[in-house]
Amino acid sequence: MTEGHTMEHRIYIFEDNESNLKDLKSPLESHIDTERFRIEEFLGDDGNQSEFDDTEYVKELLADEDEGYPLLVILDAELNEYQSSTVRRADVREACSEFGIPLCVYHRDDGEYADPDSVKESDDQIIRLLPRNGGHEQMALKCAALIKGFDKIRTHLTERMAEASPEELFEPPSEFIKELDNVPISSKPDIDKYSWGQSESLSLLKENEGKEDAIRRKATVLGYWMVNQLLEYPGVLVNEIAAASYLGIDVEEFSTNNEIRSRFEDARYKGPFSEVGDYWWTAELDNILAMNTTVEDDGTVTTIDFLSREGIEVDSVMCVEEHEGAGYYCILENVPVCEEHSVSPEAWIPAGASLSRLREEAWMKLKGW
Ligand SMILES: [Zn+2]
Repeated sequence: MTEGHTMEHRIYIFEDNESNLKDLKSPLESHIDTERFRIEEFLGDDGNQSEFDDTEYVKELLADEDEGYPLLVILDAELNEYQSSTVRRADVREACSEFGIPLCVYHRDDGEYADPDSVKESDDQIIRLLPRNGGHEQMALKCAALIKGFDKIRTHLTERMAEASPEELFEPPSEFIKELDNVPISSKPDIDKYSWGQSESLSLLKENEGKEDAIRRKATVLGYWMVNQLLEYPGVLVNEIAAASYLGIDVEEFSTNNEIRSRFEDARYKGPFSEVGDYWWTAELDNILAMNTTVEDDGTVTTIDFLSREGIEVDSVMCVEEHEGAGYYCILENVPVCEEHSVSPEAWIPAGASLSRLREEAWMKLKGW
C-alpha cells in the first residue's frame, strides 16, 4: 500500500427524482472527504435486469466484485418516479439487510410518518431521516455525519479484530463503545441495558462468510444501535433539550449561551455520530456538578446555583405543562417534562434510558383514551 493511500468507500444513493438527487448530492459532497468517499447513484436500469428480479438486481449492484460493498446506502423512501426501473424501497432494504450494509432512509414529505403512531415504530434495522429535520442541506449534513460515524466504527473494528477471534465480535456494546469514547465508569451498566434487540441477528456469522463480512455486519449493527437507541433515548447520553431539562435550566439559554455550554464541555460525547447532533454523558454532567459543590451546599449543587456563583444568571427549565422544573425528556414531542406529567411505558422506552418519558397527555391521546 502506498503512503497516504486510504481505502475508498462507495456511498450509494437511490433517488428517483433528479432534482432532489442534485439537491442532496452537492451539499453532501461538500461535507465529506471526496477522496475517501465516492458517491454513486442509481438512475434506473434501462431494462438491463431481464435475468434478475428487482431485489436480485439491487444485490448485484451492491456486491460489486471490484469495488466491494458500499459503506452506506442512502434511500429515498418514496421510490416511484423511476421511469426505467421497478426497483422499490423493499428491494433495496432486503439487499442491504442481506449484506449487512447500513441503510439510511429519508422522506421528502411527512408521508406515513405524519401518523404519530408510526413515529416511534420499532424499526432498528434502518436509520430514518425525517423531513422535519429541515431541508436538503440539513439532510446532507446528517448523511455526512452518518457516513463518518459508520466509517469510524468500521475502521476501529477492522483494527481491533486484526488479531482477534471472530467470537470477540459478540461482546456487549459497552465493550466496543468504551474503545470509541471516554465512557464514564458509572455509565457502563446502563449502556448494556439499551435493547440490543433484533438487530443483533443481522450480525450473526453466515456460512461462507469471512471475518471481513462479520466485521461489516457488526459495524452496521453497532451503528444502528448507537443512533437508534443510545443517542435517540436520553439516559446514558442526553441531547441538548434533555441536557437542559436534566440540568434544570432554560433550554433556549443552554442551546445558545456559550458561557454556559463551556462549563459542561468536559461532559461532551465525542464518539461515533457525535456530528449528528450535540450530546453529553449524563454521568459526566453529574460529575461536573459534584466537583463544584461546596460545604455550604445542601447536597450536590444545583446548576442554577453553580452558574450563579460563576456570575451567570439563568432561568429554570419549564416543564411542557408550564411550571418550573422538569428533569426528563418527552420522546414524542422532544420537550422537557417532569415526572408527574409523564409516563414511562416499558414497551416504548429502553431500560437504560432513565431520562426518556412520554408526556402523559400526548400518550393518552395516542392511545385514544
Ligand atoms: Zn410537569
